[in-house]
Amino acid sequence: MAVQELQKPTSEELDDLNAQLANSTPQEIIQWAAEKYGDDLTLACSFGGISGMALLDMSVKIKPDIEIFYIDTHFLFPETLKTRDVAMAKYHIRPVEYQPGITPQQQAEQFGDELWKRNPDLCCSMRKVETNKQALAGKAAWITGLRRDQASTRRDVQPVGWDEKFGLYKISPLAHWDEKRVWQYIFENDVPYNPLHDQGYPSIGCTNCTRRVGEGEESRAGRWGDSEKIECGLHR
Ligand code: SF4
Repeated sequence: MAVQELQKPTSEELDDLNAQLANSTPQEIIQWAAEKYGDDLTLACSFGGISGMALLDMSVKIKPDIEIFYIDTHFLFPETLKTRDVAMAKYHIRPVEYQPGITPQQQAEQFGDELWKRNPDLCCSMRKVETNKQALAGKAAWITGLRRDQASTRRDVQPVGWDEKFGLYKISPLAHWDEKRVWQYIFENDVPYNPLHDQGYPSIGCTNCTRRVGEGEESRAGRWGDSEKIECGLHR
């Protein structure tokens, strides 16, 4: 599909698509997306969440040459990079790495030290959102690990949506799965996952902005510490 053919769907068209896929498994949704978008489909995998790892396993089994990308914000945990390496060896994949156009040093010089503490939205915008824009340029659809149970901001996630921010389709095959179901898939299929999950980190992003979570907290409560922020801006 040539990108210039991409047109924003109407809400009725999206409703129809989601009605068609309402009873589909994640694998069936990925299969549908792979057939519809071909090489204009890309999978975002941060190597920091179980959803992304489950989707990686499913996607590679369905479309072995699917493009996989991740953003190296320059603040990734060593465990995240290790998980990437383990996945590369297991699945024989070469994920495409994208980096922000501004180094941590340039950011500190221009905006002061530890911008993430004072203005995490600006930091995420430069390091994640702009970088994601590069990764999605020329694509028709991207697969994400969004699930409804992850946070109050994600309660309405549908398997197929239109991404206003990046101007392409957003496919969320795990929209209706919960964390327990994803873990079940991980163990049943021997999928590698970030070892920080076993140390109290259910959601893993940059080192600066990720902490352990306590009993009863939402899985994304460990992101951006005491601030109200629970989304990096990629999915808002
Ligand atoms: S998660 Fe934190 S360090 Fe990473 S880009 Fe966002 S604000 Fe910056």
